[in-house]
Amino acid sequence: MALDVTSSALALEGLGPTITVGEILVEIMATTIGKGFLEAQPLIGPFPSGAPAIFIDQVAKLGAKAGIIASVGNDDFGQLNVERLRADGADVSAIAVSQEYPTGSAFVRYAADGSRDFVYNIARSAAGKIKLTEAAKALIGRAGHLHVMGSALSIPAVWPIIEYALHTVKQRRGTVSLDPNMRKELAAGEETGRQFAALIAAADLLLPSGEELFVARPAASESEAVGKLLASGVAEIVVKRGQHGSALYTKNGHIERPAFTVEEVDPTGAGDCFGATYLTCRRLGHSAEKALDYANAAGARNVTRLGPMEGTSTFEELDQFIAATKRK
Ligand code: ATP
Ligand code: MG
Repeated sequence: MALDVTSSALALEGLGPTITVGEILVEIMATTIGKGFLEAQPLIGPFPSGAPAIFIDQVAKLGAKAGIIASVGNDDFGQLNVERLRADGADVSAIAVSQEYPTGSAFVRYAADGSRDFVYNIARSAAGKIKLTEAAKALIGRAGHLHVMGSALSIPAVWPIIEYALHTVKQRRGTVSLDPNMRKELAAGEETGRQFAALIAAADLLLPSGEELFVARPAASESEAVGKLLASGVAEIVVKRGQHGSALYTKNGHIERPAFTVEEVDPTGAGDCFGATYLTCRRLGHSAEKALDYANAAGARNVTRLGPMEGTSTFEELDQFIAATKRK
């Protein structure tokens, strides 16, 4: 089906920065393949991390306005993150520094089948103490788009901030996107489920991967789930398919774009870079095809680097990558 590829439901860049809310973490990785952390083993890190932070770093690297509402500890892990985000061009004015709690962390180990085991310290770290500060209100008050990372919903203190941001951004005629991005370790309670439902109802863009589409809308097939979501008012649904690329569904049609052929070194962060790049391209007025290609490139380039935020890309880097890399 032909697709109107230029117009997007997403608020243009001129309305104000893309903002997100949630966890800033350091990631510390096992250097050996296996299950879990039940014995002493070599580790590498700390790397700047946290899905909302990776996302916003990628938006900033593309030269678009980007800001994050978050909380870190008064420690090296916090400083490492804030300085990275600042250096890459993100607005760090709404990152609070807790004097009481340490920066959050995630220990990750890859298993032979490609799955990942995590040990998180989020809810009881500075990340869990996030607040709607005056600086956060100021950032929200000038935002053009709110992106919500599902992982952030595992922090109860995030809920009222997102509610406030959603209301404020919509009043400004801004738009909202949701990446369900929920890991098994971040238990989804009943209230988290309600938050998801409210966000899906408000979302202009949904960015699910794999089974997340069916969590968003139980259905027998992808097309049935997508059809229900489009009918309920979500304007753009972008499905991430890992090494099989990605697809866009709108009321006007459906397009698939292939992935790039790369050697995967570290898959963490691909989805965040992908989502940030798709959204930013659309907010800059690029066509859907171009946005998907750039997003596939951003995801693929990210998996070639060790560390979740080490492979975020500028447009120049993406252009070079696209020119030099085969598609599947
Ligand atoms: P995350 O683990 O960060 O949550 P995700 O499940 O949200 O990831 P993926 O589908 O794994 O998202 O990756 C997002 C995009 O990145 C894919 O649609 C694809 O374009 C690209 N990508 C990811 N992994 C690969 C790979 N091994 N080879 C090529 N491209 C990849
Ligand atoms: Mg994901």
